[in-house]
Amino acid sequence: MAKNDVQFPHVLIFPLPLQGPVNCMLKLAELLAINEFHVTFLNTEYIQDRLLKHTHVQSRFDHYPGFNFETVPDGLPEDHPRTGDKFIEIANGMEEVVKPLFEEMLTNGKLSLKSSKPVTFVIADGFYSFANDIAKGAGIPLVYFDTISPCSLWTFFCLPRLIESGEVPFKEDEYDRKVKGVPGSENCLRYRDLPSFFGTSDLNERIIQLILQEVKEIPRSEGLILNTSEHIEGPILSQLSTICPNNYPIGPLHALHESILLSAQKASPQVNSSNSLWEDDISCMTWLDGQPPKSVIYVSIGSLAVMTSDQLMELCHGIVNSGKRFLWSQRPGSLGGQYDNYTIPEELSDAMKERGCILSWVYQVEVLAHPAIGLFLTHSGWNSTLESFVEGVPMICWPYFADQQVNSRFVQEVWRVGIDLKDKCDRVTIEKAVREVMEDKKDEFEKSASRMAKLARQSVVDRGGSSHYNFNRLVEDIRVMSLRISAHD
Ligand code: UDP
Repeated sequence: MAKNDVQFPHVLIFPLPLQGPVNCMLKLAELLAINEFHVTFLNTEYIQDRLLKHTHVQSRFDHYPGFNFETVPDGLPEDHPRTGDKFIEIANGMEEVVKPLFEEMLTNGKLSLKSSKPVTFVIADGFYSFANDIAKGAGIPLVYFDTISPCSLWTFFCLPRLIESGEVPFKEDEYDRKVKGVPGSENCLRYRDLPSFFGTSDLNERIIQLILQEVKEIPRSEGLILNTSEHIEGPILSQLSTICPNNYPIGPLHALHESILLSAQKASPQVNSSNSLWEDDISCMTWLDGQPPKSVIYVSIGSLAVMTSDQLMELCHGIVNSGKRFLWSQRPGSLGGQYDNYTIPEELSDAMKERGCILSWVYQVEVLAHPAIGLFLTHSGWNSTLESFVEGVPMICWPYFADQQVNSRFVQEVWRVGIDLKDKCDRVTIEKAVREVMEDKKDEFEKSASRMAKLARQSVVDRGGSSHYNFNRLVEDIRVMSLRISAHD
């Protein structure tokens, strides 16, 4: 490879095949493409088909001559639901089918240093523990991008010591006791607030083993990209840097993306940069236009969570009994795999029609930015949490799995922008929480949510925003590391 081959670094981006990570990595990819980097985006065929079907991703990225999509199979049958409860099957497919293809691509294949278009840098999801050794073996530097919340990732890093000290596994009667082994969070986290996976009684479970591999591998890489900022999670970032000194907090990434695109004049505020895997139903925007300011509850459990029909009914009753208007994004497949078959009880259907708008998928960032939204009833996915921060919308959190139990606790206890229902999902609790946020403590929650919005937005401004600064540092580091490869060649 000649030196001038890396005049523009060529970055391979390799996300987990899920809505959240794919969305984040596409935003990062576009920011790198604006810097004239060549970018190859490695998607599974399933994800790529959905993106092409439901978004303008192809025409958006056609503006960047050095940008390419590559696809690989994910090893799952076409009709696999790819929901959160089947996460291990998704992870196994990546390990068994995608890992060998990734290795071949980087070592001898079309992206290797021997090829005519060599990759000079890899950004892989933090979950891909195998990626670092493969990239190292191929002579290519790699940084991980962990798109879950850093406050939760920090508990992952503490897992070895939690196991060693006997804090994990824990028993059900210990749920309300405070966790000792997560430095900096001693006054906040109870056992019930730890990531759902830690609730296992079997430490040999595959997910626990995957997390242990992940936290061993990330510090061996060249660095760690995080979707947060100093303003949002300063103390957590200090803790993380004791293990991963070279980290790049560049969040909230969707806000950084918007800010950089606007200043590069690559987009007007009207341009739709949705990376949705389902069709955005834009009719909700007209419905929202007809609602009074801050009057609507936006309800969504994201792209992976699944609820039972009992839970759905409790949510319906709780929301209807609160008397508030609501916009509900009910993803197909989100009800125990048979979402399309439920019927709303008669006593609720009038209220649902009068005050509600139920759709199967919306462009959430735009919805949260609408002045009619007064509350977000969320499963506390990290992207949803950050999107709510940026728009200054208070939250009621009903976490489902993974990092969400930690996120919801932080929303209530650290950032104070919402209420954590944790594992309670009954109509009385939901109605009470809605009234607390939208009536009794309305001013208090609105004030803390707008303070959080200000902090989140400050992080991404191009003069003095810490995330903007960290993104520039990442760009420079990729350039330097890419050049080092050609110098050694
Ligand atoms: N989302 C969306 N429309 C919907 C529901 C969700 O665009 O109707 C997006 C949301 O904006 C977020 C992502 O899906 O960016 C969900 O990611 P998150 O990390 O919140 O949760 P996950 O789906 O990974 O559980």
